[in-house]
Amino acid sequence: MLKTALRFSHDLLEEIVISGDVVVDATMGNGNDTLFLAQLVEKTGHVYSFDVQEQAVINTTKRLKENSCEEQVTLLLQGHETVGNIIEKTQTIRAAIFNLGYLPKSDKTVTTHEKTTLKALRELLIRLEKKGRIILVIYDGHDEGKTEKTAVLDFVANLPQEQFSVLNYQFINQRNNPPSLICIEKKG
Ligand code: SAH
Repeated sequence: MLKTALRFSHDLLEEIVISGDVVVDATMGNGNDTLFLAQLVEKTGHVYSFDVQEQAVINTTKRLKENSCEEQVTLLLQGHETVGNIIEKTQTIRAAIFNLGYLPKSDKTVTTHEKTTLKALRELLIRLEKKGRIILVIYDGHDEGKTEKTAVLDFVANLPQEQFSVLNYQFINQRNNPPSLICIEKKG
């Protein structure tokens, strides 16, 4: 069967992230992606993970401890748009993932926004290693999500093809707005 955007996002990360890598989870949420990345980079690598909700940090801390992965992760209770202050410009990263929108079963008013998403994306692109990937899982079932999707698509469609390959993975005949996926790969 064709993979969902979420499933495909993990495959795209797993193909390139190895032990010792530095990576970013731009939207911590319940920590699914943070844990997944922490297991890929292992103790010699590092995951920087961002969220603006304290509950995300609490849930993710617990999850990492249960899996003995807390050592290789920095959890930041601040927006991903501040990533430029956290990771030096000279520090390259192998991969980053965004899971946009709001956290299911949580406060729907706390959602990602076009401007801050693009700011984070620009900072991450500066630091992306050759052959590295930035993945965005995009939800357009809510109003802010629609605006954000348009802005993200416009931005990534205009990245220079000499430097980046950009993939848009999306089911186009389904009900209930399933998420779509963008993968930006920096050319080698
Ligand atoms: N990847 C998560 C789901 C993320 S949901 C999982 O696997 O469970 C989107 C998350 O983005 C929410 O937790 C929300 O609090 C967070 N968020 C909203 N604005 C943000 C910002 N500016 N920076 C970082 N995280 C943000």
